[in-house]
Amino acid sequence: DAKHSGRGQVRLYSEDLALRLAGRAELERDLRLALERDEFLLEFQPQVDFVAGRVVSAEALVRWEHPRRGLLMPDSFVALAEETGLIVELGDWILNRVCHTASRWARSGVDQRISINISRRELAQPDFFDRLNRAMQRHATPPEMLELELTETLMMKLRGDTYKALVGLRTRGVRVAIDDFGTGFSNLAQLRDLPIDRVKIDRSLVRDIAISVEARTICSAIVGLVRGLGLAMVVEGIESEEQIELLRVMGCSVFQGFHLSRPVREAVYLERFGVMDAAEARA
Ligand code: C2E
Ligand code: MG
Ligand code: MG
Ligand code: MG
Repeated sequence: DAKHSGRGQVRLYSEDLALRLAGRAELERDLRLALERDEFLLEFQPQVDFVAGRVVSAEALVRWEHPRRGLLMPDSFVALAEETGLIVELGDWILNRVCHTASRWARSGVDQRISINISRRELAQPDFFDRLNRAMQRHATPPEMLELELTETLMMKLRGDTYKALVGLRTRGVRVAIDDFGTGFSNLAQLRDLPIDRVKIDRSLVRDIAISVEARTICSAIVGLVRGLGLAMVVEGIESEEQIELLRVMGCSVFQGFHLSRPVREAVYLERFGVMDAAEARA
């Protein structure tokens, strides 16, 4: 009301700002403790091949079980982890957890790769590939059980040594995918020369294809480009059967999204998708 206008509002605003800054400092402190306290966990989301009729791979997605704030999604802490450099330690934890899990899956006959998201800051570490190799060795992980996901913007700016390291990994059987494709306004001619096996079509490109001719036109042009280059692809962000039908006509066959399954904990994942075909995954 009127009494609280003018100076009062300014004070309110700065109190609010101070509160938010304090919240950030607190989150940062908690983040430092989270690894020791073992508060991170992975969820897995299936990627379903509708031609092969089965789940072919899983994307590992990190979550933070915060003691007071509940389950936090990566969008609320990965950026902070990057700014503070904690992403390196967290990334190491993720690499080891994924290598361990992939190794167990291989031993128990779960014929599905696991994809790991690699952030810019992690990839910039000079010893990133050493740490990946160490994690694979420690857990005796078959290379063909793993896939690295690097975003389009990251891919377009690869340094020479990173490029070579990715080529080397692919020779050994690790697959490399370009994540969030279609969001980076990249030099598309460059796509030809990247050390990649797969393209992940970003969900923003498929969101409106069932309701907009323009969205459908853009999506089908991107899909055509990727197919024309002979690259495999997976479409993410599938939320309806209609999207799948339209994308199948465009020539896509591998899908990931809430319509098929939300990301789930490993035990649930194995129970549902350990050995299973696409028809069951849709049920
Ligand atoms: P991303 O790699 O593009 O992962 C896909 C995101 O889309 C996930 O969000 C997933 O839960 C969500 N998603 C899947 N299907 C659907 C759908 O049908 N509709 C909608 N609206 N969303 C869907 P999440 O888990 O919140 O992860 C967000 C981002 O955080 C990821 O984007 C990735 O860039 C980053 N991230 C996640 N896990 C890790 C990790 O272990 N390491 C690093 N460095 N980054 C990670
Ligand atoms: Mg990803
Ligand atoms: Mg993505
Ligand atoms: Mg993303």
